[in-house]
Amino acid sequence: MAKGEIAIKENNCRGCGYCQRFCKPECIVMSEDKLSSLGYILPVVVNPDECTACGICGRMCPHYAIEVYKYVTE
Ligand code: SF4
Ligand code: SF4
Repeated sequence: MAKGEIAIKENNCRGCGYCQRFCKPECIVMSEDKLSSLGYILPVVVNPDECTACGICGRMCPHYAIEVYKYVTE
């Protein structure tokens, strides 16, 4: 059960792959064919149900391309 979700700002992304490398639950993989308008390979969310909303991907992204939203459970 996902604890949150992420939004990728594709125009900010530079295809470095840090988000994939640091997401422990492997929610993110770098696409093989999806390119941004600037020509960078984009990450895609493949395992949204496993997102723990830890925020690591957003913190590791050098280009501020990922926003992390944590679900409120009350
Ligand atoms: S918030 Fe954490 S679990 Fe969710 S996609 Fe980012 S690194 Fe992965
Ligand atoms: S860490 Fe940021 S710039 Fe690098 S691939 Fe992921 S979203 Fe793109």
